Parts: sequence; C-alpha cells; structure tokens
Amino acid sequence: MPKEFRIGHGFDVHRFRRGRKLILGGVEIPHSKGLAGHSDADAVLHALMNALLGAMADGDIGTHFPDSDPRYKDIASGKLLAEVLRIMRRMRFKLVNADVTVVAERPKLSPHYSRIRKSVASLCNVAESRISVKATTTEKLGWTGQGKGVAVTAMVLLSR
Ligand code: MG
Repeated sequence: MPKEFRIGHGFDVHRFRRGRKLILGGVEIPHSKGLAGHSDADAVLHALMNALLGAMADGDIGTHFPDSDPRYKDIASGKLLAEVLRIMRRMRFKLVNADVTVVAERPKLSPHYSRIRKSVASLCNVAESRISVKATTTEKLGWTGQGKGVAVTAMVLLSR
C-alpha cells in the first residue's frame, strides 16, 4: 500500500498569571509569571496535541481531555500527550516532523530552544532533528505584544 501522509495544525492560547510556573514543551522556563489553565497550561504541548489530533481528524484536546474533568486539574500535559501518542500508535501513524512557533513578547525563548526541543522530542519518542521550536514577538502589537499571554501554533506531518 502506498504511504499515506497527513498534515495537522494546532493553535493554543493561555494568559499569564502570577504564582504559576511557566511550562513550555514540558520544560520550566524562568519567568515572573506562568500561564493560567486547568492543566499545567503548557501551550506548546497543547498546540502540538491539537495538531496531532487534527492530522488524524480526531477532534481536539478539549474533546479528549475536557477541562470540566477533575482528573486533568494541574496535570502535566506530557501525560496528555502520551495518551494522544497512544491513539496515534493504534491508528498506525508515525510523527514525521513537527514545527512549533511560540508567539510571546517575553520571556525571550531563544536561550531555551534547545531544552524545549530535546524535551518535546523525548516526549514524542523521535529524534530531535524531527522537532523544530522557534519563537517570535508581535513587535509589541496586540495582546501578545502587551505581554498578556502566549499563543502557540504547531504543524505536524504524520505518515502510515
Ligand atoms: Mg491550552
């Protein structure tokens, strides 16, 4: 059977909140604020999961892990990603590559690219060369520019 390829796109937003840790891609990033959310609010892993589920046309993280469910309160999003990867394996899909862009005025993320990339690759059980993590500001424009929160986009390619 010829190989089948699927692309997926994911997007996620969380607002900053004092008194929370900033977790992106499973990595704690030093910052004065973290992200508000029902889980650990890891917007990188949330966008990535939405991209993976999108490629499989299997809903989104809201349908799989509803934030009304107390089981997901403050949960490490890596655990949710592990469940999405189980769904992928059941459907015989493999992750070819993922490309993640974090939109945030601050903190500056480039010093942390390597750690985030390693962490995402390890959580997905693929080589680091298949994972791209980058960031941009919005030149102080809009709510990301005003430092109110973080937006993340992710694109993935799956094969089977
Ligand atoms: Mg989210």
